[in-house]
Amino acid sequence: MSNMRSEAWIGEEIERLRGKSMERRLSVFGEAGGKIRVDGRVFLNFSSNDYLGLSRHPEVVSASRKYLESYGCGATASRLITGTLNPHDELEQVIARAKGYPAALVFGSGFLANAGVIASLAGRSDHIFADKLAHASIIDGAVLSRANLKRFHHNDPEHLGTLLRRCPASGRRLVVTESVFSMDGDIAPLREIASTALEYEAMVMVDEAHATGVFGPNGAGLIREYGLENEVNVSMGTLSKALGGYGGFVACSSDLRQLLVNRARAFIYTTGLPPAAVGSALGALAVLEKTAEAGSELLARAAVFRQRLRDGGLDILNSQSQIIPVLIGENSKTLAMAQRLQSKGILSVAIRPPTVPEGTARLRLSVTLDHSEGDLERAAEEIIRAVNDEY
Ligand SMILES: *Cc1c(COP(=O)(O)O)cnc(C)c1O
Repeated sequence: MSNMRSEAWIGEEIERLRGKSMERRLSVFGEAGGKIRVDGRVFLNFSSNDYLGLSRHPEVVSASRKYLESYGCGATASRLITGTLNPHDELEQVIARAKGYPAALVFGSGFLANAGVIASLAGRSDHIFADKLAHASIIDGAVLSRANLKRFHHNDPEHLGTLLRRCPASGRRLVVTESVFSMDGDIAPLREIASTALEYEAMVMVDEAHATGVFGPNGAGLIREYGLENEVNVSMGTLSKALGGYGGFVACSSDLRQLLVNRARAFIYTTGLPPAAVGSALGALAVLEKTAEAGSELLARAAVFRQRLRDGGLDILNSQSQIIPVLIGENSKTLAMAQRLQSKGILSVAIRPPTVPEGTARLRLSVTLDHSEGDLERAAEEIIRAVNDEY
């Protein structure tokens, strides 16, 4: 007897998603990056997080290869057992220095870093305050912590202040935000958020997933740019976006790191990052140390592209970064737009709920250094034409 009947609900669930234009499917690509070949045709890919092209950078690839060949394919154990190799130690020192913190701790991914850190800093009787648009991994970390979770209005330190004021006196408080928002490309008022948190003796954690490598001196991020290393307790980042590889990390005080080593289940109960991934991160950070202008060059190109889209009458929300949303609204319309652009050689993913709020489906465009000024000009023209025709 087959047990397929117990799975009947799954088909219904998928059917329901399809009906709301919310079903998502995996696409398979032959290569990654800002400009890719698909079936022999070159596409401008606006969905890659490889902002600086470091995933294919010769020095990064060769650093990764060197660590792979010296240390093998795997860390072979969890970090607290025998899975902390020299490369992990070296990477954590380099990250701490780059971010301007006394210490750093590397996790298996950015998702694991957020989940592990948040659940270590807050527990059942504590309070977490997260920006309304915070990444899913921040929210999952908060859920995992079992703390009381409050969402403050997007980029609104005043509302954060109100929530903190109303918060019971007992329990620890943790404020979490992103510096560059992953779906809107706007920037958090970090100084105001930090000073509000300080006023209410709350810890502050900032997710710099999309700022690392792009903003700040040598890509150190916005905490560093604003000089907030003493106000922000936890500087979180990922090795998987501008750094072109895989893994996550936090930079923090030595005590906080030591607490995480003892408490963060997403750090303790999983195998250490493979040496090749550690090597690629070290290679990428070494390249950034030498090429201070990569991030500012990217941001300059993105600024021209944003202005061009705005001049074309598009709603790009408050984007201030290399991430540029083009608000469409309806799911099916957004999907149709993405398909139309694809036929013009432009890959942009239709971002729909639950990733973004209901009714705010959008095309999300990420500019990378693989996109020349000419590429961006051509893309802007096509995008403006697609959006305006459809309306
Ligand atoms: C991508 C992302 C993460 C997760 O990082 P990974 O290394 O891809 O797991 C966390 N936070 C934000 C804001 C992100 O955009």
